Amino acid sequence: MFSFEDLLQGNRGHISIVGTTDPAPDLSFRSAQHDSRHCGVGDLYIALKGARVDGHDFIPDAARAGAIGALCTTPHADVPPGFLQFVVPDVVKAVQATARVRVQRQPETIKIGITGSSGKTTTKEAIAAILSKVAPTLKTYSSYNNELGYPLTLLSLQAEHRYAVLEMGTERIGELRELCETIARPDWSVIITVGAAHLKYFGTRENVAIGKSELVQVLSEEGIALLNYDDQRVRAMNEKTRARVIYYGRDAQADVRAVELQGLGLFGTHFILCVERQKIPVKLALPGAHGVTTALAAAAVGHAAGIPLDVIRDGLETLTPFKGRGEVRRGAGPNGSTVIDDTYNSVQESLIIMTQALRETPLPATGKRWAVLGEVMEQGDYTLEGHYSVGKALNGTCDYLVAIGDYARYFIQGAQESGMPAQNIYYFQVDPYQEAEVEEAKRAAVALLKEKVKSDDLVLVKGGHRLHMETMVALLTDQK
Ligand code: ATP
Ligand code: MG
Repeated sequence: MFSFEDLLQGNRGHISIVGTTDPAPDLSFRSAQHDSRHCGVGDLYIALKGARVDGHDFIPDAARAGAIGALCTTPHADVPPGFLQFVVPDVVKAVQATARVRVQRQPETIKIGITGSSGKTTTKEAIAAILSKVAPTLKTYSSYNNELGYPLTLLSLQAEHRYAVLEMGTERIGELRELCETIARPDWSVIITVGAAHLKYFGTRENVAIGKSELVQVLSEEGIALLNYDDQRVRAMNEKTRARVIYYGRDAQADVRAVELQGLGLFGTHFILCVERQKIPVKLALPGAHGVTTALAAAAVGHAAGIPLDVIRDGLETLTPFKGRGEVRRGAGPNGSTVIDDTYNSVQESLIIMTQALRETPLPATGKRWAVLGEVMEQGDYTLEGHYSVGKALNGTCDYLVAIGDYARYFIQGAQESGMPAQNIYYFQVDPYQEAEVEEAKRAAVALLKEKVKSDDLVLVKGGHRLHMETMVALLTDQK
């Protein structure tokens, strides 16, 4: 919730109001929505001009859905009487300025920023699952983690929220610092990994590390930096912060760690969670080694918040894989096989981590493991090597490889060089930019899988955004 006063104060001198000359001074908005289909009673509609659609065209829809007003650069003529239109030169900047004022009004809420190349959303959900057991907690909707999503989330802050769990994404150096300086800086920062995501924009992993480290550089001395001890570039960020550091990880040096791990497969892991001298067993349903990383990051935040270990455990045990992030579709695949939907997105590390989890997953003796992998984009000069190194790591993790895309040929090269038999590899070569051809290649791959996959088999489907591998899951499971 935010008030008309927040909007005015944030945008003084840059805002004019169409619809009334005198809005009620105690007017407030339930939330801010940039999709008119999400608008409800009491919302402020944010009209954005995109490359393909102009949000201004939907101002009347937002009004019909119950929005009180719209933030826009040009007012719409066709709105009901009394509908307010706040006209500003730059809508995104106006949202940011409003969020800044809103947050400053509520300094007692602990803001927890989360960044990393992968796993932000999963970690955000895990942290919120624990904190919301003890106090009202705001969390980022979906992956709203950028210059618009971050302030939009903060505009949903309510007076009772004790914690705000905030996903923060970055594609370039300076971006996180800017989000913190122009909108709000976190009180606690969680850094998960420095990987190959967005290498196209960052250039090198060192730059990725610099970009992510901004989130701990901005912390004050009273702040807390929660760092993944197992990722060497994240661990080294202790040198960049004035804040107290809490390390989480599987390493014995970490303050919050996991020991006696059993499983690490796609169906989850059992482990003992250790925080200082306390220990508790946890049954985690999140997949793979990265599921444990997520759980430890969340446990570390719970520990920082002074939450008892059994409550932390209870929070972790409520977690199941989120949509497209390792979802288990038991028996829904071809001939009653099980499909794992990890199609949300991929970078090189997450491909390797998920195929390792595939290897660790227990199967009946007759069961075979299938890795159905679409190529990954956005890795710049590293794209070829990235695919090749995934291929190298594949042998032994799966019995069959189904590769789709153009760079995907380097999955195959790497897999063959490391000893995977050629007859166990199927390649559907396609230019990922040719949508119709991509759909055709995916349909052909599905037809192959429907013929070959047996009931005890396990099929992991994963790939970069562009290939929309989720449609393969839909076809494989016949939308079951
Ligand atoms: P985005 O930047 O698109 O918002 P995100 O950082 O929020 O992504 P998630 O949605 O949580 O990431 O997870 C996406 C995928 O990343 C998962 O399906 C999984 O394959 C992989 N992943 C999750 N956690 C890790 C991790 N700690 N290390 C490597 N890969 C991970
Ligand atoms: Mg996300």
